[in-house]
Amino acid sequence: MGTIITVANQKGGVAKTTTAINLSAALGQLGKKVLVVDLDPQGNTTTGYGIRAAEKKLLKLTTYNVVMGETRPADAVRETRFKNVRLMPSTQELAEAEIRLLKFEHKTLQLRKALLQVKDDYDVVIVDTLPSLGVLALNGIAACDSIIIPMQCEPYSLEGVAELFATVKRIKKSVNKSLQIMGIVFTMTDKRLMVNREVMKTIRREFPEDAIFRTEIPRNVKIAEAPSHGEPIIYYEPSSKGSQAYISFAKEVMDRL
Ligand code: ADP
Ligand code: MG
Repeated sequence: MGTIITVANQKGGVAKTTTAINLSAALGQLGKKVLVVDLDPQGNTTTGYGIRAAEKKLLKLTTYNVVMGETRPADAVRETRFKNVRLMPSTQELAEAEIRLLKFEHKTLQLRKALLQVKDDYDVVIVDTLPSLGVLALNGIAACDSIIIPMQCEPYSLEGVAELFATVKRIKKSVNKSLQIMGIVFTMTDKRLMVNREVMKTIRREFPEDAIFRTEIPRNVKIAEAPSHGEPIIYYEPSSKGSQAYISFAKEVMDRL
């Protein structure tokens, strides 16, 4: 039976998309059958998997059609050139769903309904969400079994996470009893920065040990370059620190599945 994992944090720029792309690619390389769902109108996961702007314009079926209930989810899924990974792409059109979803009776459950139809075709489904706690992002949280929270260790990183935890608790109570937080992963870490080390220490003290993944994703320029080449880091620069970190992170995720 497949597991649905949503990568969430309403703060932007914390490496949600980077984590969704590279975790999924690493899981695929490690032999898991993976579906990546792009639930952000910015479509950065779609681009990161090699679909360029011109090609995006030609996409007929995307995550938008799926959350609107206009198509069977399997019909919006396409192959990628990367081992074991398929993609449900998104485009700007998805932004309209934020308003159009409001007319649905179960407006936060549209993605969940859809993914239940395909989850057993995969070992893991990874959902990348947008930086908000609006109805679209709530669809991402309500759809999953487990949440991964990427966090950049800066002085204000913990702000917002409390709100995210409260939201998860609410969704767990109301619509998705089996919802779990798999863990927090520290991203863009830089041990040379005193403030980075201090914040990391504080956060590790504040949470139970298993709430935070052992693997930290270091700041690594190759990770930032990879999307413009349309490749996950493990293909773009397999020997880089970033690539090794995401493989080790994927192994930790597999242990927790
Ligand atoms: P989010 O999806 O949370 O908004 P992104 O994944 O788009 O965040 O990351 C924000 C920016 O940081 C992007 O430009 C990305 O390339 C860069 N980035 C993410 N992780 C790393 C890293 N480990 N090292 C260097 N740059 C990174
Ligand atoms: Mg993103």
